[in-house]
Amino acid sequence: MSERQELIDIVEKVKRKLINSQEIGLDPPPISSDALSYLTAGNNLSYSPSLSTVSYSSLKELEKLNRNCDLCKLSSKRKNIVFGEGSPDARLVFIGEAPGVEEDLTGKPFVGQAGKLLSNIVNAMGITRKDVYICNIIKCHPPNNRDPEPDEIEKCLPILKAQISMIEPEIICTLGRISLQTLINKDLKITRDRGQWKNFMGIPVMPTYHPAYLLRNPQAKKYTWEDMKEIMKRLGLKDPRRLGN
Ligand code: URA
Repeated sequence: MSERQELIDIVEKVKRKLINSQEIGLDPPPISSDALSYLTAGNNLSYSPSLSTVSYSSLKELEKLNRNCDLCKLSSKRKNIVFGEGSPDARLVFIGEAPGVEEDLTGKPFVGQAGKLLSNIVNAMGITRKDVYICNIIKCHPPNNRDPEPDEIEKCLPILKAQISMIEPEIICTLGRISLQTLINKDLKITRDRGQWKNFMGIPVMPTYHPAYLLRNPQAKKYTWEDMKEIMKRLGLKDPRRLGN
């Protein structure tokens, strides 16, 4: 790598770190306002008062901190908060929509039928669920599996941003419409925009179909596999199917 490229990479890393810190409401570092606005240009930073006033240094602490969250109406009916699980050093984070009934009962993400398919997809990439991190846009089960409502997403999003900020994955894969529209833009369409790289908090995002959709529409699995191959390429993972091992 050339010295110039090395320098560009360092500046990009500093930029991402700064943006992530501001996303979760930390105070800016003591640098000039010009330097700060150069480094964070083009990012719509939001402030997260609930997480900005407390300190946490690990995903476990963050989870503990939110164990009794009652910021939205879903808290009264939930059995368990489904915080997320996987490697805190994951290079790849999958983000679904909301916990279903089984996830609510177990406190773990993607453990039902859709979760089994997600596990198969991850395994087909030549890795396991332990290598990645899996979580959802909102952490509590909505009644009758209805879509999360805007106020619920707004209250819950700071937790997800904090998770991403701590993990610092190389790639985020959004699963389904809600995750794509929440992280990127509410006007996007999953059928049109899946498979095209986006960006959230300075991290490349690959949108794909939700596994529950794939269970209902198995003919669409080939598109999700195309999307996974894009991710594998970027992570430098070999295509185990192509290699036949
Ligand atoms: N669907 C989701 O979006 N998330 C889960 O955890 C389970 C099903």
